[in-house]
Amino acid sequence: MKEEILTKYPNLKDVSDLNEVFWLNPKLVPYEEGARAINMNIAAIDDAEKRLKKFAPLIEKVFPETLPTGGIIESPIKEINRMKDKLQKLYNFDSAGRLLLKMDSHLAIAGSIKARGGIYEVLKHAETLAMEAGLLKEDDDYSILADQKFRDFFGKYKIQVGSTGNLGLSIGITSAALGFNVIVHMSADAKQWKKDLLRAKGATVIEYESDYSKAVEEGRKASDQDPMSYFVDDENSMNLFMGYSVAARRLKNQLDDLNILVDEAHPLFVYLPCGVGGAPGGIAYGLKSVYKDNVHCFFVEPTHAPCMLVGMATGLHNEISVRDLGIDGITHADGLAVGRPSKLVGKMMDYLLGGVITIDDYKLYDYMRNLHETENKDIEPSACAAFEGFVKFETTDEGKEYIKRHNLENNMKNAVHIAWATGGSLVPEEINKQFLETYLR
Ligand SMILES: *Cc1c(COP(=O)(O)O)cnc(C)c1O
Repeated sequence: MKEEILTKYPNLKDVSDLNEVFWLNPKLVPYEEGARAINMNIAAIDDAEKRLKKFAPLIEKVFPETLPTGGIIESPIKEINRMKDKLQKLYNFDSAGRLLLKMDSHLAIAGSIKARGGIYEVLKHAETLAMEAGLLKEDDDYSILADQKFRDFFGKYKIQVGSTGNLGLSIGITSAALGFNVIVHMSADAKQWKKDLLRAKGATVIEYESDYSKAVEEGRKASDQDPMSYFVDDENSMNLFMGYSVAARRLKNQLDDLNILVDEAHPLFVYLPCGVGGAPGGIAYGLKSVYKDNVHCFFVEPTHAPCMLVGMATGLHNEISVRDLGIDGITHADGLAVGRPSKLVGKMMDYLLGGVITIDDYKLYDYMRNLHETENKDIEPSACAAFEGFVKFETTDEGKEYIKRHNLENNMKNAVHIAWATGGSLVPEEINKQFLETYLR
């Protein structure tokens, strides 16, 4: 299997040897062309954005921590100059642009990027059920969904999900808060504290000895056998994807507020840690729809779990697993420990994504320490993969090649780079301390 694949795709040799790589997507085309090729669905993003606004009064009521933002779950963005200086010194480069941290690590309720797609999908499902039962109308105030009558109603239904941890937290916490029965199927790599937290919130956790794909498969099977059960399918869900995509519009407002212009002369670079692909894919999709050719999106994956890279580079998407290349899929980056990519995301990224960068696990902890020391911010190891995107873009031949291909030489001085911090604020202090003291090399 491996030899056949490498004969056909010799550029995957480095990937199969577990070397860090920067894969430039050869299919990337100008936005209008790419959007046409994939049937970019702007109306679906509109719909998700509108739905989240409608649900804001309910969110505010059920999760009082969202009161300050009126029930809108959004994360801060912060310029991190000291971190930028530190990275430049350590990796010996000089970036003319600015570096910002998008702190989904601190999103309300779930403490990770999964607060976007996961919560959106649960809300949408609750809306569908309530409307079908004639209990909710289009123009109702959705905060009524917090009433006991609805809790009893949702209590007749079940929601299930397979997860390495963070998606489980997001789905579990939201579903339980609305009164659903919720079962989270957790892969072996899921951290104990996440299981404990979920159980404390009222979710049922089923543990598997196997990896993420198996947990999803088992969850899907269990759910399909139960007519009252709904499965949140991380490998296939368009709802999750669209929930994530709304982030782009929120980001535009934030950048506007900071007087940060994005246009032809002021390019935007975004580095997104990638697991199965849904979260980074949805956000990149939204970003391309907003900023078109002026935004450049890159995914970052662990060298031991480069599933999106392998799926996109071969065009086989979910029909190939990193194990087919002899790669074990085992990594400290638990949110990214995925061997087989989403069925839909790679296809939607084919003409829009700049490329995929891979990172050795030990660096995750180095970045984490550096961020802690320079900015006094803590994000989880997986989220730190984002920094590798920025560093590789600035220090490699592939980065220079990308700049040349897109005629960006004269505009790099105006560039804004965003490292998308995908999780971390729910990590218990003791575990965070252990992370900060982990040296793999
Ligand atoms: C889930 C997750 C990702 C990646 O999202 P996918 O949809 O799996 O690609 C990145 N970072 C963290 C911390 C996550 O939990």
